[in-house]
Amino acid sequence: MTTIVTETVTCRSCGTASEQEKLAGTTSFGWPDLDLRPPEMRRSTMRLWLQDCPSCGFVAADLSNASDAEKDAIKGERWNDAAADRAGPDALTKRFARRAIIETHLGRHGLVGFRLLCAAWDAEDRGDASANDYRGDAVAHLGTALSDDPDAKEATDWTLQIVDALRRSGRFEEAEEYADRLIGHASAKIDAIGRFQLRLILDDDSRRYTMGDALEDDEDG
Ligand SMILES: [Zn+2]
Repeated sequence: MTTIVTETVTCRSCGTASEQEKLAGTTSFGWPDLDLRPPEMRRSTMRLWLQDCPSCGFVAADLSNASDAEKDAIKGERWNDAAADRAGPDALTKRFARRAIIETHLGRHGLVGFRLLCAAWDAEDRGDASANDYRGDAVAHLGTALSDDPDAKEATDWTLQIVDALRRSGRFEEAEEYADRLIGHASAKIDAIGRFQLRLILDDDSRRYTMGDALEDDEDG
């Protein structure tokens, strides 16, 4: 089950206090998607992953806790434009995109990629075609992160996300290059996902699948 608590949080950026919901606990059953999007029930808690200051538009897991570098990130034309455009049915998508601007300023490209994938997930849930634009931006940042000597776990996670984002966007040739990196991986699970992705790519299949689909397919031969 999912437990949500409401608390009053003072924004470290502008000093405004607001009521914010916070995820006190949740569980997940089943397999993540091939791009590591978690299964239910965590899947349905995306609106609780980042707090959003109603006054200044600062976005963080905890608004009361912002580093000087984060505060420095929320200025400039790109930020101001994003902060001025916060309402609407795509508000949650834009919240993730705003956090991506902050992570970009901090040079944390892996996290930029993750936040942009979150934006893509919310856009897709709403049937919004911008999902693949966010996937494209995520791929660019994850590629940068991947070239910056990550540890083995990060390198694998980012490669999984790049392959899937490219395939979901119909960029099959590029996806194949990254899928090749997963095939022969020391983890049998990652190897199976790489081979499953390759089959989907060769079929021009851009639909959503889970890791469980990849492993079942592998058992079936
Ligand atoms: Zn604020």
